[in-house]
Amino acid sequence: MMLLDELMKKIDEKKDRIIDIRRYLHEHPELSFQEEETAKYIADFYKEVPVDSVETNFGGERGIVVTIKGSKPGKTIAIRADFDALPIKEETGLPFASKNEGVMHACGHDGHTAYMLVLAETLAEYKEQLKGTVRVIHQPAEETPPGGAIGMIKAGVLNGVDAIIGIHVMSNMKTGHIYYRSGNTQTGRSYFKLVVQGRGGHGSSPHLANDAIVAACSFVMNLQTIVSRRINPFDMASITIGNFDGKGSFNVIKDSVTIEGDVRTMSPETRELVETEVRAFSEGLEKSYGVKSIFEYHNDYPVLYNDPEVTEHVRKALEQAAIPEVESVLETPPQPPSEDFAYYLQKVPGCFFYVGAIPESGEAYPHHHPKFDINEKSLIISAKAMAAVVASYSDDSEA
Ligand code: MN
Repeated sequence: MMLLDELMKKIDEKKDRIIDIRRYLHEHPELSFQEEETAKYIADFYKEVPVDSVETNFGGERGIVVTIKGSKPGKTIAIRADFDALPIKEETGLPFASKNEGVMHACGHDGHTAYMLVLAETLAEYKEQLKGTVRVIHQPAEETPPGGAIGMIKAGVLNGVDAIIGIHVMSNMKTGHIYYRSGNTQTGRSYFKLVVQGRGGHGSSPHLANDAIVAACSFVMNLQTIVSRRINPFDMASITIGNFDGKGSFNVIKDSVTIEGDVRTMSPETRELVETEVRAFSEGLEKSYGVKSIFEYHNDYPVLYNDPEVTEHVRKALEQAAIPEVESVLETPPQPPSEDFAYYLQKVPGCFFYVGAIPESGEAYPHHHPKFDINEKSLIISAKAMAAVVASYSDDSEA
């Protein structure tokens, strides 16, 4: 039997275990950079599994890197699953809802870890038939910048890796469909903070004060012209002011205002352009309004760029695998959220793709919602889809 057929058959036999693991993890979520028990659970899982090595505390955080060496030489493929949860109070009412008050697996990372564990075990069982090396990356802290990927990359997780592949289950995409995109696929994210420092005073004597509110408002309005007047209409960006701390008293001229905002862009060039423009408006306030602008701007997760060649390889592998649970493999438009898998893709070519997971009920809540849930079928599909990609790289090693 072909390697992939064997892997798929084995995954079918282990369906219930994938779901059990997912439900256990769902009940026991932990926040980014605090995933002590989850990391221990993952490491313990491998105790009985014939993998070649398990490295814990990878990158100084709770990352776990597992190596599975095939019996013949070939490419090194890294496959990654994240395992952190979010500061959200779960409202799903599921029998396996979070037991950790105020913390919830509301992005499906419990599912990513569940399918990945069982897939890794299955690959280890068939390593005699495998060519090349599979490096399984269990990554903590995807949800909270600076994110867990950076530390793992610094610690060398990508050394010798030819390609890296990741999956996200999506509660807003149809179960039974897999989606991919080549090139820039998910937004890059930036954060800025501006303290507008004016001079307080009495409402009856504006000429003796310097109103921070007026200056801050002009900044907010000016920012609206960046997307409309500076960005190529065929490109995109979003700039949101989510915090404007202007609370005071009706007849007191405000001394200072603090503003915080979020920027999303779809290309490194736009990312740079937006930063330059936001910075310019902040500096301009000093000249126009005589206030002091205390400004900071941080880029965190970069634009997620899927390598066209690897993406095509993945697409073909998924098509050829003809996974029974998969109706179709489709191209998706760009995705708005940011994702720290993008850091890996800056270092080695790879592909991050999506497995549809709209729940059985048809009632789909967005990621990070207190009622977020996934169709567990998507986990079986994820395991098989990733198996198909690994098997195709193994087959490719023959030449
Ligand atoms: Mn996520």
